[in-house]
Amino acid sequence: MELKKYPQLILRAKCRPILEITNEDIARANEMLEFMYAVNGAGLAGPQVGWKRQIVTLDVSGEKKGGLILVNPRIISSEGEVEAEEGCLSLPGLWAPVKRAEKLVVVAYTLAGERVEQHVEGLLARAWQHEVDHLNGMLFIDRLAPTTLLTLRQKLRELELDQKESESK
Ligand code: ZN
Repeated sequence: MELKKYPQLILRAKCRPILEITNEDIARANEMLEFMYAVNGAGLAGPQVGWKRQIVTLDVSGEKKGGLILVNPRIISSEGEVEAEEGCLSLPGLWAPVKRAEKLVVVAYTLAGERVEQHVEGLLARAWQHEVDHLNGMLFIDRLAPTTLLTLRQKLRELELDQKESESK
């Protein structure tokens, strides 16, 4: 697997839901989880590895085991607001404070097709929102105040140039 980075266009795609979970999907999702651990991520969404499907891997424990694989994740309701520093594997070296809902009720399917609804908060709620955004073609920089975004302009420009360079190779 290869990590897709800003400004690659696939990160802007809206992902289609998975209607049938095939053995190939299961293998690929497990590979995604291993890949996330290998690159020291706490969350990874399909488009970040070139897979335009509603699939997310998550593990905010830092233990690199027992991570979650979420199929067609949805946020049913949210409450509160909390601001914290956020980063993204697809925007290496960038960190900024992002406002997110504090608590969520979420639902997703497991690879076995089982529907799981739960209440999440804290870091997990933040990761959920970040990854669901990815499935809608949205990056955390889209949620920043314009003044904050301005302070990241140089870094974003560097990522754009890196990408141009790797495309011309
Ligand atoms: Zn991300």
